[in-house]
Amino acid sequence: MEDEKFKSPEKRDTEDVVVIGSSAAGLYTAARVARGGRRVSVLESKATPDPAPRTLIVTDYFKKQISTAARSSILNEIRRFELFTDGRSAQVTLKQPDLIIERSRLIRSLAEEAAHAGANLRYDTRFLDLSPNAKGLHVQVDEGGKREELHAVSVVGADGARSRVARAAGWPPVETVPLVQAVVKLPKDCPPDTTRVWFVPDDTPYFYWMIPESRERAAVGVIGEHGRATKLLFDRFLEKKGFEPLEWQGARIPVYHRWVPVQRTVGNGEVYLVGDAAAQVKVSTVGGIVTGFRGARGVADAILQKGTAELRTLRRELGTHWLIRRALHHFKQADYSELVDLLNASARESLGEINRDESTRLLWNVIRRQPKLVLLGLRGLLLGKR
Ligand SMILES: Cc1cc2nc3c(=O)[nH]c(=O)nc-3n(C[C@H](O)[C@H](O)[C@H](O)COP(=O)(O)OP(=O)(O)OC[C@H]3O[C@@H](n4cnc5c(N)ncnc54)[C@H](O)[C@@H]3O)c2cc1C
Repeated sequence: MEDEKFKSPEKRDTEDVVVIGSSAAGLYTAARVARGGRRVSVLESKATPDPAPRTLIVTDYFKKQISTAARSSILNEIRRFELFTDGRSAQVTLKQPDLIIERSRLIRSLAEEAAHAGANLRYDTRFLDLSPNAKGLHVQVDEGGKREELHAVSVVGADGARSRVARAAGWPPVETVPLVQAVVKLPKDCPPDTTRVWFVPDDTPYFYWMIPESRERAAVGVIGEHGRATKLLFDRFLEKKGFEPLEWQGARIPVYHRWVPVQRTVGNGEVYLVGDAAAQVKVSTVGGIVTGFRGARGVADAILQKGTAELRTLRRELGTHWLIRRALHHFKQADYSELVDLLNASARESLGEINRDESTRLLWNVIRRQPKLVLLGLRGLLLGKR
């Protein structure tokens, strides 16, 4: 049933594919679908193509996914990880460096590529609702304060963790956790090519981190479970380490529990989800850029009828990260201490050789080189069950 307020909206031509959200996953999908010859519009609720800056770390798999132009978003390379817990530490040297990227640069570059591929980018246009029609879908939007109705064959929800598209098409909401980051001056004792990770299970089942974006600046962050408590713990952590925040970055991010089917048929139309909207986030590290691109590529392939191989790989990948998270989530301090101690030279070698976006291979290699980690992981899983 159509809502009363949409009875006489201004009508437009039928769009082939309408993508909601012009951030990483949406623009990546739009460019691929437009290159495949389909007519694509991207609708973004923000008034300008000027996303908030955010410092992110990704594996070098990112380079395989993006064009040369989008590499301008890379700020720094990370060659070493230092893991800390309860006075212990372990170092992992990476064979292929991780990359520190700046999200607003990445999004601007992806927007140029999508437009170049033929996608029509519309800002200040908020998705409100969708409903079936004879040829596909009605898409109700608010463009600069004016209600409009578009028609599409397919709609792609790339509108983030609180996806309105997902709700409109009947997907249940995804659970989210708070992530807070502060940009600080890089401390003198930290080399600019080294990421630091602190496991403090009394504060968070996740971890704190510091990722240097240059010789001068680093992003320090934490993932928690409850917004206010997480911010208080983070303030205490910053103070303890002597970090003074220069900028704040933060948002809620989805927690992957199980595969979210990416497609639903609504009447004669198809609705898809990509990126955070489909919880395509590695729940062990809460990284969503590379996996969001994989989801975007998978959905673009599905729209262009090129098969589902990419989505199958992504599903396997996200499942392995979920297994790792389940094992870690109930670790006590003693378990983390044992974990850091067990990261002997050969296990560290695997961690450094294989990147986190090939998690199944990584997991088997680490276990092969340090079988005691299986027992520790199983203990974590059993603690979770209890
Ligand atoms: C502080 C922080 C640090 C992070 N660090 C990392 C990291 O180091 N590595 C990593 O890989 N990942 C990291 N992540 C996660 C990563 O940023 C996200 O997974 C990724 O940006 C999700 O992209 P997306 O395109 O799916 O969604 P989003 O970036 O959330 O984009 C959704 C878009 O949809 C638009 N929108 C929403 N509703 C509507 C509507 N109704 N109509 C029209 N438009 C709408 C929004 O304005 C937005 O532009 C971090 C996240 C945060 C918050």
